[in-house]
Amino acid sequence: MSRSGLSRRALLAGAGAGAVTAVVGWNTSTAAWATESGADVAELPSLDGTVTLQGDGLERFSSDFGHLVTARPRAVLRPGSVRDVQRLVAFARRHRIPVAVNGQSGDLAQLGAAGLESHSSYGQANPRGGIAIDARGLSRVVSVRPGRAVVEAGATWAQVTEAGLAAGWVPPVLTDYLHLSVGGTLSVGGIGGAVQRYGMQVDNVLELDVVTGTGELVTASPTRNRELFEAVLAGGGQVGVIVRVTLALVKVRERAHVFSLYYDDLDAYLADQEKVLAGRRFDLQVGDVVRSADGSRWRYKAELVAFADAGRTVDRTALLAGLVPVETEVVEQSWREYAFRVDGFAGYLRAAGFWSLPKPWLSVFLPASSARAFMARAAEVLTAADLGAGLLLFYPYLRSKVKAPLAVLPGQQEVGWHFDLLAFPGPGSDSAAMLERNRRLYDLAVELGGKRYLIGAVPGMTREDWRRHYGGQWEKVARAKRRFDPAGILTPGQGIHAS
Ligand SMILES: Cc1cc2nc3c(=O)[nH]c(=O)nc-3n(C[C@H](O)[C@H](O)[C@H](O)COP(=O)(O)OP(=O)(O)OC[C@H]3O[C@@H](n4cnc5c(N)ncnc54)[C@H](O)[C@@H]3O)c2cc1C
Repeated sequence: MSRSGLSRRALLAGAGAGAVTAVVGWNTSTAAWATESGADVAELPSLDGTVTLQGDGLERFSSDFGHLVTARPRAVLRPGSVRDVQRLVAFARRHRIPVAVNGQSGDLAQLGAAGLESHSSYGQANPRGGIAIDARGLSRVVSVRPGRAVVEAGATWAQVTEAGLAAGWVPPVLTDYLHLSVGGTLSVGGIGGAVQRYGMQVDNVLELDVVTGTGELVTASPTRNRELFEAVLAGGGQVGVIVRVTLALVKVRERAHVFSLYYDDLDAYLADQEKVLAGRRFDLQVGDVVRSADGSRWRYKAELVAFADAGRTVDRTALLAGLVPVETEVVEQSWREYAFRVDGFAGYLRAAGFWSLPKPWLSVFLPASSARAFMARAAEVLTAADLGAGLLLFYPYLRSKVKAPLAVLPGQQEVGWHFDLLAFPGPGSDSAAMLERNRRLYDLAVELGGKRYLIGAVPGMTREDWRRHYGGQWEKVARAKRRFDPAGILTPGQGIHAS
C-alpha cells in the first residue's frame, strides 16, 4: 500500500472520536504531532495496522490495573505486522519518542475488548507521553507441537493453555491468573506454583523474536544472540519488544488433587512448607496468609497440588507424613479447573467493584533466613482493610531452579520465600499511605537481604535502589541498554534507567 494510504489509516483512527484533524507527521521542533507539512515535519511510517493519535482510543492506555499512575500516551500503535513494530520503533528512536508495549491482557471472551488492560500495578507499561504498542495486535497462538508452542507475544497464557490442552501439552509454569500476556509476564519473570520444579516462566523459553530499540528484528535463544536473550527475559522491556516466543511445553496430567493445610502458627507453617519443598512432594506448592474466621488474627494456608492421571489415586498419607496443620481439606478436580481457578474470584472482584479501585500491590523475595522476621513485621503492620478483598501469597521456592539472570532473587541461600501482597482495598482507602507502607516494607526486605519483583508498586525507586537491586549485574544491565536501546526510548515506566 502507498505511503499516503497508510498515513490516512492513522488519520482515520485518530479522528474516530470527534473532530477530524489531519495528522501528517511529527514536528521535530515542537515534539508534537503536526497537522501541516513543513521542513520540521517527519512523515509517519507506512503501516499495516493502525495508529490512534487522538480521542478516546488513548484512554485505555492511560492507566493500568493498579490505578495509581495515569499518563495519556501520545499515540497507540495496533500493529498489523512485526514490520509495523520495527518501523514504529525506528521512527520513535529517530525522534526520541518513548515507546512501551501495553499487554492489553484480560479475559477477552468474558469481558470483550473494553475489559482489556495492562495488568501492571504502577505504570510499568505506560510510555509516559510516548507511544503505546497494543500487544493484542500480535496475539495469535501460531502452533502447538509436542514439547513446544510458538506464540505471538500478545497472546495470553489462557490462550496458550487452551490451545495446548487440545493437544495434551501445557506450559510447565503458569501464573495464578491466566489472562496475562506472554510478552508481559516474560518481561517480568512469571512465577507460579511450579517454580519449585521448573523455575519461572522465563526459564521455559526456547527462543524469542525481538525488535530491539533500533528497530532491528533479532532471533535470540540460549545459543544464538544470548546476550539479548538474557537481557530480554525478566528485563522489564528495557532492550526490545518481544514479538514472538517459542515456549517449552510438558505433557498434561488430567487430575489435580488440591490439599489445603491450615496453620495458626507462623513457625509451624514455615517449617512444614520447607519440609514439603525439601522432599519435592507435590507438583505445585504455594500458600497464603488469610484472616481467621472471626477476623481477629492471621492464619497461614499451604496449597499443595499433586497431579495424577485419570482413575489413579495419590498416596495422601505419604504426601502429608510429618506435617502438622490444624486443619486439612482435599479437593480433586480436573487439571483445567485448577489452572483456571482464579477466574471465578476475579469475576467476584469485578462484580463487587474492587477491580476498578487503586491496588497498591507489593511483591518481594526473601532469603529463607529472614522470611520469618519479614512476615512477622508485615503481620503487625498489615490490617484486614489493607488486604481488602485480596490475598497475601507467602510460599517458598528453590533458588537454583530460577536460571534467567535478570529474574533477580536473593543470592545466597537455596531456599527463598515469595511475599506477594495482592491487595484489593475497598472504596475510600488511602492509597498514598499504602504506597508509603509498601516503601517501608520494601526497605525492610532489602535490609533483610531481599529483592523486589518488577511487578508491584514501590514508590521513589532511585538509581541507587536499582543499582543495589541488580548488584553485580548492574554493569551488564546498563551495557545491554546502551547496546540494544541506544536512544533510551523503551519502557520508561519501569524507571530502571531514569536519570
Ligand atoms: C490478577 C493478577 C494476577 C497475577 N498473577 C501473577 C502470577 O501468578 N505470577 C506472576 O508472576 N505475575 C502475576 N501477575 C502480575 C503480572 O505478571 C504482571 O501484571 C505483568 O505485568 C503482566 O501483565 P500484562 O500482560 O498486562 O503486561 P503489562 O503489565 O502491560 O506489561 C508488563 C511490562 O512488560 C512490558 N511488556 C509487555 N509486553 C511486552 C513485550 N511484548 N515486549 C517487551 N516488553 C513488554 C510492559 O511495557 C511493562 O513494562 C498478576 C497480575 C494480576 C493483575
